[in-house]
Amino acid sequence: MKNRCLVEPDLKFIDAIKKAGGDSLKKCIQCASCTVVCKLSPDLQPFPRKEMLYAGWGLKDRLVGNPDIWLCYNCGDCSDLCPRQAMPGDTLGAIRRLSIKEYSKPSAIHRLFDDPRYLPVLFILPALIITAVGLSTGLLNLQHDGGPIVYARFFPVSLIEIIFIPLPILTGLILFIGIRKMLADMQANFFYRGLSNDTPVEPVAFLKTLVTTLPEIIKHEKFATCTQNRGRKLSHMLVSFSYLNLALVAGTFVFALYILDSHGPYSQLNPIKIFANLSGIALIAGSLMLIKDRLKSHQEQSFYFDWYLLGLSLFLGITGMITQFLRLADRPEMAIAIYFIHLVLVFNLIAFLPYSKLAHFIYRTVAVTYSAYARKEQR
Ligand code: SF4
Ligand code: SF4
Repeated sequence: MKNRCLVEPDLKFIDAIKKAGGDSLKKCIQCASCTVVCKLSPDLQPFPRKEMLYAGWGLKDRLVGNPDIWLCYNCGDCSDLCPRQAMPGDTLGAIRRLSIKEYSKPSAIHRLFDDPRYLPVLFILPALIITAVGLSTGLLNLQHDGGPIVYARFFPVSLIEIIFIPLPILTGLILFIGIRKMLADMQANFFYRGLSNDTPVEPVAFLKTLVTTLPEIIKHEKFATCTQNRGRKLSHMLVSFSYLNLALVAGTFVFALYILDSHGPYSQLNPIKIFANLSGIALIAGSLMLIKDRLKSHQEQSFYFDWYLLGLSLFLGITGMITQFLRLADRPEMAIAIYFIHLVLVFNLIAFLPYSKLAHFIYRTVAVTYSAYARKEQR
């Protein structure tokens, strides 16, 4: 018989989904109310009913590389209206988390985000690396010998370069490998569902689709369709834009340093500095709003994985602002200590990006773009 498909259920995967937040999935009776209520579900092969079925059977290969799981923004509307409290929104969230585990290698690092007992490791490790590199190169200097506080005297630019140039390159490489595998799996998934052909994803056409998809993602248009969780749009936008803005600020200061040979600290009235401070305030405000939303929410389960990123974002914002106040207040000992903590948090953010919840920003962008790309290719 032609076109036969071999289904290989992965029973361990059912347990993994349950542990990651889909513990009610077996209550599903396939009534499809969730699919009807979801405003983001496409007309052709809609979700999340079919994903609930696949999850109930433990069909890992139909789920982790399924772009549809990333079209869900966990608004909670379907979970709210499910007559069996099977919590399809949470189940899709759990599958997304397992998808991140599948694509960001090595898998062992994900364990650090499964259990809060590993929390000290996530901070002690970067602290040790920064200290070891600083001491072994002789660049770290924690003595303040008077005069205004200039952080580059304690943590010289060359020390920052040795640590913070290879780190994003390594993170980018891990993400690149994950994205390549994810794209191949999504193409195979769509081919199986009769939604694409079996040729590899065409990179130029994909990148062109990315350019047209990004404004929709940046504007958070999909968040506006939520009924239960509508308020999350503003808080999510504040945090996302803060990260983008602060990355832009860092890039501008690198340009000023290497191209214009202009060294900090810069005036508080410098427009880039004002922009950075506003972004820092937005990061703190957005993180606090997201924490409040999660504490209040009855539609959405929260895990250590979620709290970790919210806590990290909040403390990044707070330590970033405090280092500046301590410098202006001329409190060198405290300023050096808080700046060191801030560096550890930045290291942590970059190094663990492929494994923390922040990875969903990357993988969701790829999946949303792939869906649009595949639709275009179909026409
Ligand atoms: S998850 Fe709930 S609403 Fe969706 S098909 Fe199952 S029982 Fe019905
Ligand atoms: S949580 Fe919201 S976006 Fe996700 S499947 Fe349910 S209704 Fe759709």
